[in-house]
Formats: sequence, C-alpha cells, structure tokens
Amino acid sequence: MSGASVKVAVRVRPFNSRETSKESKCIIQMQGNSTSIINPKNPKEAPKSFSFDYSYWSHTSPEDPCFASQNRVYNDIGKEMLLHAFEGYNVCIFAYGQTGAGKSYTMMGKQEESQAGIIPQLCEELFEKINDNCNEEMSYSVEVSYMEIYCERVRDLLNPKNKGNLRVREHPLLGPYVEDLSKLAVTSYTDIADLMDAGNKARTVAATNMNETSSRSHAVFTIVFTQKKQDSETNLSTEKVSKISLVDLAGSERADSTGAKGTRLKEGANINKSLTTLGKVISALAEVSKKKKKTDFIPYRDSVLTWLLRENLGGNSRTAMVAALSPADINYDETLSTLRYADRAK
Ligand code: ADP
Repeated sequence: MSGASVKVAVRVRPFNSRETSKESKCIIQMQGNSTSIINPKNPKEAPKSFSFDYSYWSHTSPEDPCFASQNRVYNDIGKEMLLHAFEGYNVCIFAYGQTGAGKSYTMMGKQEESQAGIIPQLCEELFEKINDNCNEEMSYSVEVSYMEIYCERVRDLLNPKNKGNLRVREHPLLGPYVEDLSKLAVTSYTDIADLMDAGNKARTVAATNMNETSSRSHAVFTIVFTQKKQDSETNLSTEKVSKISLVDLAGSERADSTGAKGTRLKEGANINKSLTTLGKVISALAEVSKKKKKTDFIPYRDSVLTWLLRENLGGNSRTAMVAALSPADINYDETLSTLRYADRAK
C-alpha cells in the first residue's frame, strides 16, 4: 500500500423504525467486496456497482460473510491502523455518511462492551500493547485531545468552559495545529474512556427534521502516541511520535433535504465545505498514488478539517474511511452520493 492510498469500507445499518413504518424496501446488495444499489425510481435500470476493500452488512445472521459486528469492523480496520501507529505512521480513520446512517455507531458505538465502536476498541488495545511492550528499554506516553469543528470553527470538547473558538495556526516544523487546545496525558484506558464520555456530552447537537439528535459538527478525537527507546549499552534514546486521528464527520446530507433554513442552511454550507474539501483531498491523494506522482496540488488549505488533518492524510500516513449507509429505498439519493464519495477515495 502506498502512503496516500485509503482503505475504504462500506457499512449498511439495519432498518430504523421510520423506515420500517414506511415499509421501505432494501436497495443495497452486497456480495464479496462488491456493493450494488438499485434505483427504486427505476427498478429496470441496471444496479450501480462499486467495489471497496470491505463491505459490511448488518441485518442478516452472523454467519453471512458480509455480516459485521463491531468487533469485526475493528479487527479489519482499527487493528491495522493501530499497528501502523506502532510502526511510526500517522493514521486517520473517518466515518462519512448521511445523518442516522451509523457513523457514530461505527466510531464510538454504545456503552455495552459488545457494541463498542472503533475508538474505544482502539484505545483499549493501545494500552494493552503498551503494557505488554513496556520494559527497561521501551517507554510510552499518550496524550489525547478532542475537538469539534462546527461551521469552520474549532471548539475544545475537553474544556467546554472555554466557550470561545480556538485559532488554527501553523508551526513551521510541526504543521497546522489548534492554539490552546487541551492535550491531556493519559495512562490507562479508563482515563481515555472518562475523557471521551465528557467530550461526547459536550458535543453540539442540533435538531433537524431528519434526526432530532443529529450532530451537525465534525468530531475529531486525536491521540498523540510517543514511543521512546533507550539503548541500554549506548544510553542513546530515540523517539517515534505518531498521531492517530479518529473522525466522526457531520451528516453529509444536502442542506435542502433536511428542510434547513436560515442558520441551519448556513451550517449546511459550511459543514459541506469541509466534507467537499475532504473528498477533493482524498481523491487527489488517490490520484497521486495511482500515478505515483510526487507533487500534485492537494487543496488541504480550503477547509479547517483538511488543514488540521494534513499530517494524517497525505505523506507519511495511513488512512481508512468507513462510509455508513442506510439500506432503505427512501434514502436512495443520499446513499448513492455516499457510495460515489467513497468510490472517489480509492
Ligand atoms: P450517525 O452518527 O450517522 O448520525 P448513528 O450512528 O447515530 O448515525 O446511528 C443511528 C442509529 O442507528 C443509532 O440508534 C445506532 O445505534 C443505529 N445503528 C447504526 N448503525 C448500526 C449497526 N451497524 N448496527 C446496529 N445499529 C446501528
């Protein structure tokens, strides 16, 4: 895998009660790594097919090869990214899709252990590995931050008292960063879990017609992980620093399909600016990797999200994307647009 290529997974969630009550039909089919979508407005049209690294189905039995438990999604995607972080790469995992399609479920999941998403499972394994590998030569330190990008502005989720927006600046050597963002040192999974809980409570949620608790912001959970090796003979020490960014993106639906007006519409435009730019950045990186070109213009600067993720997307990094999908015919347009977005990332 070259530095810029992105692992792409698609995941269909079960029908929700709204879809069931409308007797919605399932328009997604999965076979192996191929995912097809049927146009309910024109069922005679040939289904559109896409292929991704992983295709996950959720409403059949666990024996179905496409069926994906939280654990399976983590084992396929999170584990590999964690290994890359131990190798010294920056990594990024993000979830994309329409509101209610399963992004937060995939990234955070629910409280029950069997329903924990990628972020808690990755944090838990990070500390297991640290405890297994820690010895006289190797030492580790972990710092976390949690921020929300809302209308192109950054808010600290670990210090919600700081109501103001934080400035995005650029360090000449270390690249873009958020000034005054809390970075908290953690020494166990429990420390991280407590911070995640506090941060999740602080997230901006605004009701839209689609989903009363839909989140209109991008949530970026960052782990800075430092591995220090002390050579017992020479006493020289070397350090590897990796940044792990875990991103739950805002809903990708177009502002108009949620009945948004006024402030909501403006929010939609700004949210989509980060999403559109992220799409352009990822597909530009995919192009660079396919053509094996070294220099090409990558529009990182066009949105706050991509600017801050610059070190986690291109160059010395590994990226994975989970595109979350509704199975229902009533969401055809959004689901097709999510599949196209995911397709451009390959
Ligand atoms: P989003 O973050 O994209 O707005 P959520 O993750 O909140 O969507 O998912 C909407 C609802 O669907 C939640 O109640 C969630 O628990 C449920 N859900 C989503 N994906 C799955 C899945 N793969 N399996 C079971 N339930 C799911």
